[in-house]
Amino acid sequence: MTLVFVVNSGSSSIKWELVDVESAEKLRGGLIERVTDHESAMLGILEELGDVHPAVIGHRVVHGGSVFTAATLVTDEVEAAIEELSALAPLHNPPNLAGIRAARAAFPGVPNVAVFDTAFHQTLAPEAYTYAIDADVAREQGIRRYGFHGTSYQYVSKASADLLGNPAAKLIVFHLGNGASVAAIDAGRSVETSMGMTPLEGLVMGTRSGDLDAGILFHLGRSGATLDELDTLLNRRSGMLGLTGSGDMRDVQGKAAQGDAEAQLALDVYHHRLRHYLGAYLAQLGGADAIVFTAGVGENSPATRSAAVAGMAGLGIELDESLNGAASKEARVVSSGASRIAVLVVPTNEELEIARQAAALL
Ligand code: ADP
Repeated sequence: MTLVFVVNSGSSSIKWELVDVESAEKLRGGLIERVTDHESAMLGILEELGDVHPAVIGHRVVHGGSVFTAATLVTDEVEAAIEELSALAPLHNPPNLAGIRAARAAFPGVPNVAVFDTAFHQTLAPEAYTYAIDADVAREQGIRRYGFHGTSYQYVSKASADLLGNPAAKLIVFHLGNGASVAAIDAGRSVETSMGMTPLEGLVMGTRSGDLDAGILFHLGRSGATLDELDTLLNRRSGMLGLTGSGDMRDVQGKAAQGDAEAQLALDVYHHRLRHYLGAYLAQLGGADAIVFTAGVGENSPATRSAAVAGMAGLGIELDESLNGAASKEARVVSSGASRIAVLVVPTNEELEIARQAAALL
């Protein structure tokens, strides 16, 4: 048994799991909310764990910038580098770091490993990660595409390759949760992804707009909106929430089914963006072996999967609607026998992936 204590430390909550890497089993878990002091919250978890002693602690860290290309053993220097990267992720990296510091204090002698959401996408080529803006400004400010959900992509792409029996598979993976993104993966390497310097770019999400014309910001700014208001508008009050009043996909689908025109338009916009990226990534990869759906919406909504690939038989993509509609928690194929490109549903498990990467560094 190799016990890993997995920590996802946010600004006001700490989510944790105790995972046995050998059996891939979650043994315990909890969520501490309304956290004001990360250190005392961590001591509370230590007490709850009693005489259970993890071999290593794995921490989710959102932004690893261009510095971290893989999971990294935490030292004072690594802590300092994560702190420096807070400029790129001011809402996420500071609470992630608070969790690391609290764990180092509460569990003396147990190694800590930082696992970064961005690391998996460090394989992107310059032409994929470079924004076409003033090169000096971009360099000085660290402005480039980084991509996120990397831990999920790593887990899901490995599980998909296992299911296909093809480690060299070309995959287009849709991670559709509250936050949503898509990645083009070639033989386990990320070659393109829809989130950019921040998680705002790309697909339509629960509360984020995804892609839009940056000129809209100037327009709204000249009309009197402050930067904080624009940030809130695009990150917290847009996407499905902005279009319908609810950011939860089940609510939007329910309203649309009752004939609500706003909800139907929101679904149409959401699906249109999925198809836009699917086509783009087929071109970037030069074809694909499989299209993979994961996370809350991707795993549980047959209607979303169906809309994403409808009418693509000519491209070699065809669902088997009875497989697609069948409820299951297993990784599975939902395309028809005639489909040249397989369509898969693969449940993600970011905590297990963090645990595996932390254990692998031991
Ligand atoms: P997070 O990004 O917060 O981890 P999840 O991956 O849990 O989020 O995804 C949450 C989303 O999944 C919500 O919009 C929820 O409505 C959606 N979802 C969950 N189950 C279903 C379902 N059966 N059909 C459609 N959407 C679903």
